[in-house]
Formats: sequence, C-alpha cells, structure tokens
Amino acid sequence: MAANRAILDATIRHAVFLERLKSNEVTKFAPFLKEIDRGLRERLTKADMTAYNRSRLEKLLKDVDSLLLGIFGRFTDQLQLDLVDIANYEAEFEAASLNNAMPAGVSLEAAVPTAEAIRAAILTNPLGVRGADGGKLLGSFIEDWTTAERTRVAGAIRQGFFEGQTNFQIIKNIRGTKALGYKDGILATTDRNAATVVRTAVQHVASQARMETAKANPKLVTGIRLIATLDSRTSQICRSLDQRTFPVNEGPRPPFHPNCRTSFVLITRLNEMFGKGATRASKGADGAGQVSADVTYYAWLKQQPAAFQDKALGPTRGKLFRNGGLSAERFASLQLDRNFAPMTLDEMKAVEPLAFERAGIN
Ligand SMILES: [Zn+2]
Repeated sequence: MAANRAILDATIRHAVFLERLKSNEVTKFAPFLKEIDRGLRERLTKADMTAYNRSRLEKLLKDVDSLLLGIFGRFTDQLQLDLVDIANYEAEFEAASLNNAMPAGVSLEAAVPTAEAIRAAILTNPLGVRGADGGKLLGSFIEDWTTAERTRVAGAIRQGFFEGQTNFQIIKNIRGTKALGYKDGILATTDRNAATVVRTAVQHVASQARMETAKANPKLVTGIRLIATLDSRTSQICRSLDQRTFPVNEGPRPPFHPNCRTSFVLITRLNEMFGKGATRASKGADGAGQVSADVTYYAWLKQQPAAFQDKALGPTRGKLFRNGGLSAERFASLQLDRNFAPMTLDEMKAVEPLAFERAGIN
C-alpha cells in the first residue's frame, strides 16, 4: 500500500474516532449543568424578589455569580486536563501512522514531540476560527464562553427583577418549560454552547498536536492537505478549502469555525501522490458511500442532484454553481478572500459578474 494512502486511510478512520471522542467529552458537562440548575433554583426560590430592593438584588446576583464561577471553574479545569491528554494521544497517533506508512526497507522512525512542545502549541497557538471570535487562544476561548454564560444568567435575573416578574417566572426563563422539554430556557443555550466549545477545543488541540508531530519530522513531512467532510452540512470555508495543500509552517489549520469537522493529512516524502484506488467517505443524496480520495468537495457536489446542491450551498449559490459556467475549482476559489474569509454573494459578483449573469442572478 502506498505510504500516503495508508496515512490517508488511517486519518479518515481517525477522524471518525475523534468525532466520537468529542461527543464523549460533551457528555461530561451534564452533571455540571444539573448542578447549575439546582443551585439557581435553590437561590431563587428562597428569595422573594418582589420584596427586594436594588442592593439586595445585587447581593443575590453576586451570590449567583460566585456559584456559577465555581461550577464552571471545576468543569473547565477538568476539560483542560482532558484536552492535554487528547493532544498527547493525537501526537502519538500521528507518529504511529507515519511509522505504519513507512515502506519496507526504510529505517526511519517518526519522532514524537515532547509533552512540553505539545502543551505550548495547544495553549499559545491561536485557534484557526475565523470571524469575530478569530485568533483567540484556547484559554480565552473557553473563559470568554463561561463569562458569557454567567452574564446571560445574571441578565435574566436582573431583567426579571426590573420588569416585576415573580421568582417563578424568572426560574422558568432560566430553566425553560417542561412542555418544551426545557429547550426554551437559558440553560438550554448554555448546554448547546458548552457542546460547541468542547467540540471546537478538541478539534483545536488535535490539530495542533498533529502539527507538532509534523514539525518534529521535517525529513518526513513536507506539508498538509486539508480534508473537509463530504456532506451537505459542511461550511462555506471548509467546502472551499477542501484538498488545499500548505507547507508545514504556513496556512490556516482547523477548526475554521465553531463545530468545525475539517481535518488534514500529512503529506510525506515517502510518496508524492496518494496511491491509486484510495477513497474517502461521502454522504450525498443517495446516502453514505466512498469516492476517490482526490476528488474535491465541489467536484463531488457537481455529481449531486440540484436539490442536494441547494441544501448544501443555499439556493442562490446553488444556481450559480449549476448555471454560472464556473469549474469546481474556480467556484471554490471564488468562495474565500485572500485571508480565507468567506466571500458574500455581492463580493463574488464583483469578481465574476459574468457568471452571475449566465446564471440569471441579479
Ligand atoms: Zn469546518
């Protein structure tokens, strides 16, 4: 089996494993959320807010905030420990997969980066997330989330107080209603955000740890190839970066946005091209299947029916994709600016007005 094909196969299997690992890590928030729920209920049922003045309200808010601070603190401490473990595991996995790919007769052994190097990389290299939350370090990415959750809970209590709501109403706003399965409360948002933060943080540490292995093996590794997920949920940036290659020390690395599933494979000197017959997983209109490993996201999407294309791209981009006369490659390059930020339809139109005309989009 060609070396890069072995690495690709292992990476794809591993990406599935990593998604499961993320889900497992997400479930660890549940007991902490329960604790928050219980703690808030206790404090809010004790207080008769209608009899409160401002200074008593501020005292209650302080009490609530220190409760939340403590619970989030314990959760994030545990998360950070788990993230370091995951990072070490990922670095070792990458070195092992390089070793497995070594052709017979090559007596090279892939180096595993030190635990200190891995730790430094995950903590001091920013997340690849673009946009308003872009460029954050892992520590502030996690901390800013907990701050936002604390602010949201305090806001609901304060607003309830000033609007003369009963404690029961305020509790309902925070917890949600039983009839809607508590999905309408503030804590449901907290839960969703926790899942996003955990998944994104795991993707970041996995990505950074694997890059450390790449950097520790300059004789073996020459670059990386980004691999997005072939289904209809893949984001604009990830669709457009699929199959793009970068040298080891250049270019963006996933996660490119919260909940990003994009991964990458290491390109080695062992074999310049992927072996013939290598495949990658896809989930198109006909369900799950395998396609050739070198097919790009948009080349794959060209094979899908119009309805699926619209589901993935949205109706306007779908129309442009089908009728604009653009190749899959050109369409991909039109999606992102020089800093890999997604282009709006207006920005795309300024670059390719003819394609819009051909597709009949005004
Ligand atoms: Zn993504």
